[in-house]
Amino acid sequence: MEEIKKLSVVIPVYNEEENVPILYKQLVEVLRELPYDYEVIFVNDGSTDRTGEILEEIARKDKKVKVIEFSRNFGQTPAIVAGIDHSAGDVIITMDGDLQNDPKDIPRLIEKIKEGYDVVSGWRKNRKDAAVSRKLPSKVANWLIGKLTGVRIHDYGCTLKAYRSDVIKRVRLYGELHRFIPALVSTVTSPNRIVEIPVEHHPRRFGRSKYGISRTFKVISDLFFIWFLQKFMQKPIHFFGLLGIVLFSIGFFPFLYLVLLKLTGHSIGQRPLLIISVLFMIAGTQMFTTGILSEILMRIYYESQNKKPYVVRRALNVEEK
Ligand code: UDP
Ligand code: MG
Repeated sequence: MEEIKKLSVVIPVYNEEENVPILYKQLVEVLRELPYDYEVIFVNDGSTDRTGEILEEIARKDKKVKVIEFSRNFGQTPAIVAGIDHSAGDVIITMDGDLQNDPKDIPRLIEKIKEGYDVVSGWRKNRKDAAVSRKLPSKVANWLIGKLTGVRIHDYGCTLKAYRSDVIKRVRLYGELHRFIPALVSTVTSPNRIVEIPVEHHPRRFGRSKYGISRTFKVISDLFFIWFLQKFMQKPIHFFGLLGIVLFSIGFFPFLYLVLLKLTGHSIGQRPLLIISVLFMIAGTQMFTTGILSEILMRIYYESQNKKPYVVRRALNVEEK
């Protein structure tokens, strides 16, 4: 097991002016006590309040604080990705910037990493959010994600997590995918190396949550997409192509039969079978072409993966790579 030298704490922030100074103070108190070098990476996701100025002030005094500032609001997942991209630690910790996660849990997460886990996921056993609009949809989502991906954990949505950096850096994230990280990670490491531990959760004191029930639908569409990728990502042509061939054959053989009847001098009249068989052949051909199209799409999907899902306006305390 590789030794841990440095920790990177990644925090996406979008309009968290009251929370940032308090969080910074709490974090430093915890990190100073640990026997590792550390850096704190705040990703300012297009905040329109004073978050940017406050971060600048902190970064000016504390060189261990990196600030990545986006050109506009890109969303929590791109912000997390940017933080990971700019991190130098062997272990990466992600957490929310609104004081709902507690920095005091960090040492326990690191302990698990030291035991050999690649991912340690926080589990908000006593989640302090609205029951019907937030906790209930999450329960359903967690169950579904577990069912579909085979990685069963209680709380996918908890941002407080720790990762071995070489493992998390292999996972491509975009859209709202940060919620699925444990499942995605299982494609690059063994599910036995993913563990869950209970963590604190506090109600939001300042500012407002950026999410509501509408996000649930985005999550569900992402979920479907992941499932689809896992199932057919490798070879969509196999799925659609086979379906196409089956449909085409259902149409082709009756059609052949009718053609033979006609050729041998029989009248085939106005048989509906003719129309149906032609329809099946058309549907089959279309399925087959859909297969080819999805094959092309999948390739584009793979090849476009070097694109960053965010645009950085400026960065503080970050050396040019
Ligand atoms: N966040 C972000 N970009 C966004 C929305 C949220 O960087 O577009 C940050 C936000 O500042 C906070 C974290 O992501 O640090 C979690 O957001 P929030 O507290 O609104 O989510 P909830 O806790 O309600 O799930
Ligand atoms: Mg929150």
